[in-house]
Amino acid sequence: MYGIVYHDDYEKYDLGSDHPLVGDKPKKTIEYFKEKGLMKDLKIFNAKKANEKDLLRVHGEFYIKKVKDLSKKGGFLSFDTPAPIGIYNIALIPTGGTILAGDILFKDFTCMANPLAGFHHASTNTSSGFCFFNDVAIVIEYLREKYTLERFLIIDLDVHHFNGTQDIYYEDPSVLGISFHQDGRTLYPGTGYIEQIGRYSGEGYTVNLPLPPGTGNESYLNAFNELIPPLTKQFDPEIIIYESGVDTHHTDPLANLHLTHQIYYQFGKKIMKLSNNTCKKLLILFGGGYNNISSIYSYYNIMCGVMGKKDFIEEKEIKDDNVEMVKKLVTELKNILSLHWNL
Ligand SMILES: [Zn+2]
Repeated sequence: MYGIVYHDDYEKYDLGSDHPLVGDKPKKTIEYFKEKGLMKDLKIFNAKKANEKDLLRVHGEFYIKKVKDLSKKGGFLSFDTPAPIGIYNIALIPTGGTILAGDILFKDFTCMANPLAGFHHASTNTSSGFCFFNDVAIVIEYLREKYTLERFLIIDLDVHHFNGTQDIYYEDPSVLGISFHQDGRTLYPGTGYIEQIGRYSGEGYTVNLPLPPGTGNESYLNAFNELIPPLTKQFDPEIIIYESGVDTHHTDPLANLHLTHQIYYQFGKKIMKLSNNTCKKLLILFGGGYNNISSIYSYYNIMCGVMGKKDFIEEKEIKDDNVEMVKKLVTELKNILSLHWNL
């Protein structure tokens, strides 16, 4: 069974008319899913607000207070993240949505999605990149406590490096975090180097593939097939969390990769298969995407792949000039990880 969480107040998560994060994207996404008949097989649940206890499993007290204080008078959490008045209570809704989606997953669902989620730039005591609370880590800690889970897999395909999530789990072998992203030398947040593989007992449990600008479908899918299925099989997760940012699309105004709509169908299909072959628990957090129309089509394609629907959206392929370069990077990454994984 497939489900999605949503709340009418999701559209209040809006950082201003001159900011790339536009509040009505989740609403329009659900409307498009309805129009395409997807909601017939996708049960909708009303998101509930997270509470402070949920936040404290991941974030420091001082940081939470900082967001609360900013929320009273308005201001900036960081250079790129305005904090409008009331944002504390608004940010608790999608966070609670991710928790609810995780909970429902362990009550008889094989896949749950949250269209306003995947705030992977928030770390324990700092944040930027339009994120307030790291719902990826918050749901992991919630599920760890409630269902005594021990192995969590994060597949983060957003174009930006998952720096907040990486910080939180850099020394933790219970969370295998895989991030494919545009090279940090060319894009925010500037981290996610191939050599960053975790520390102490967490060594080998952080996997970073930084991709050069211009990377297209062919290189990306080769890298996916070479790395993600064997890592998933060997790690044997109890849940897969797919941060499905679609700011990798060629029209995205914030980044420079060249993926096209049809590849998101492949991601959905392949990751669902990995879930079916392991834990049968897939949580999809829709993540970034700043060309609204393209993003909605891409999210739709992901769900088509997951739900086995064939009428996904296609567009003209873009020639990929990075195939050999990315192959070399994948070989380099395999060598770096060879003490930890059989790749
Ligand atoms: Zn992003």
